[in-house]
Amino acid sequence: MFDRGIEIKTPAQIESMREAGLVVASTLELLRTTVQAGMTTAELNALAHDHIRAQGATSNFLGYGAHSASGVGGFAGVICTSVNDEVVHGIPGTRTLHDGDIISIDCGAIIDGWHGDAAITVAIGDVPDEVTELMRVTEQSLWDGIAAARLGGRVSDISHAVESSVRAQGDYGIVEGFTGHGIGSAMHQPPNVPNVGRPGRGAKLVKGLALAVEPMITLATPNTRTLADDWTVVTTDGSWAAHYEHTFTLTDSGAWVLTAIDGGKARLEALGVPYGGH
Ligand code: MG
Ligand code: MG
Repeated sequence: MFDRGIEIKTPAQIESMREAGLVVASTLELLRTTVQAGMTTAELNALAHDHIRAQGATSNFLGYGAHSASGVGGFAGVICTSVNDEVVHGIPGTRTLHDGDIISIDCGAIIDGWHGDAAITVAIGDVPDEVTELMRVTEQSLWDGIAAARLGGRVSDISHAVESSVRAQGDYGIVEGFTGHGIGSAMHQPPNVPNVGRPGRGAKLVKGLALAVEPMITLATPNTRTLADDWTVVTTDGSWAAHYEHTFTLTDSGAWVLTAIDGGKARLEALGVPYGGH
């Protein structure tokens, strides 16, 4: 059911989204624990593809953006692999990962027509302390954003919390050209979920709404450009970026992070926020 363009899911539909979310979570966990120097991003993609299939799910990334049902011209992977100064939408391929790199891995899956979408950033071997800190700050801002969501609140409460979290922790670039989004029977739906903004604005947060929150934070500029491959988004100054994402919903008891293996219980409770899953 749609209410002013926003899809309101039934509890049963949310359960399907949880199944899709768990496929995404286990795929990312597999990649996080497997990725190492010497691997190519195409090898990561192949592992993810096999895993998604083995779970009985299909990919919502593969063929995304195609101009025809054939999938020709659409995205060529089941994950996005964005290395170092690449912010989002990197295409898996022949690039070999080296010690000292960081990689954002963005993954999605579909179960029974319902979508999940999440991303993590992983360090390959040793990276400078400021890069480790960039990753920590970005992931924290994601959880602070989700923790700010309440039934009856507004979408920009999340945006404001993400921005405030990042600003409180140092001088970082917050990418504004890309945002989080509604998600459900399609991967990208209204409303957008910006990573900056004043609270109390935008769509109302109601039961059955599902949102993907995805801060993209850089060590310097917030400005980006897209490479000639028409997908890969990089920082204009070459500064490195981190990207984390989860899909979540709100129930009567609190927030339920559909793409976290524990439903977000540990991180939400650490922030003093009620957990809404089961
Ligand atoms: Mg994503
Ligand atoms: Mg997303």
